[in-house]
Amino acid sequence: MSIALNIETLQKELKTMDVTLVAVSKTKPVKDILEAYAAGQRVFGENMVQELLEKEEALPKDIAWHLIGHLQTNKVKYIAHFVAMIESVDSLKLLKEIDKHAAKHNRVIDCLLQVYIADEDSKFGLDHAELIELLRDEEFAAMQHVRIRGLMGIATNTENEKVIKEEFYELKMLFDGIKTSFYRGVESFDTLSMGMSSDYKLAVENGSNMVRLGSTVFGKRVVKHFKLKDDDN
Ligand SMILES: *Cc1c(COP(=O)(O)O)cnc(C)c1O
Repeated sequence: MSIALNIETLQKELKTMDVTLVAVSKTKPVKDILEAYAAGQRVFGENMVQELLEKEEALPKDIAWHLIGHLQTNKVKYIAHFVAMIESVDSLKLLKEIDKHAAKHNRVIDCLLQVYIADEDSKFGLDHAELIELLRDEEFAAMQHVRIRGLMGIATNTENEKVIKEEFYELKMLFDGIKTSFYRGVESFDTLSMGMSSDYKLAVENGSNMVRLGSTVFGKRVVKHFKLKDDDN
């Protein structure tokens, strides 16, 4: 299957369910992204700041770039002028930095709060208590340049569908609870980003309305095409 065909097939499948496709283009070359773009895809996800910057510069300006990987506070300044959504907000400190730099560019940046749902220590994200604490914070309440659109989560990397399903179910319940308690009547709190190539169908069945698909769109990631100047972000 070609990238263009993958996009068309996925878009057809997801549109009927009102699910947004984020095409995760990390490690993939600009020409692959252009092929997806030509097939109508406009939302792309990257997890490294340096790679995102290089691609943003090389590619059409009507692409909505989502940062989906862990973001260090000292790198917010590089992406604040263009990033469409930061899906991986995992601390108040990071949110403050996003608010500060968005203000400098007269922007309001859409953010998702990343919640830790996996049964693994390696994943970033807020736990339930930290999430509630953030939402109740006075400084947070005063922020004018970030808009919380919803939650994001990454399920455990396992073959066990029951485990994955439980994690997605838990995140959906949490999303509904947060909506009721903190965002009642706030229409812009509308996004639950969960599901990757291996588990997006389960995610959608359990209430996801944004899926982040890399290999299903672009094929397997084998080598890193991008040399990163920094070792992480
Ligand atoms: C890489 C990545 C994806 C996409 O992974 P695939 O398994 O290739 O679909 C989704 N979300 C995040 C946060 C990622 O880092």
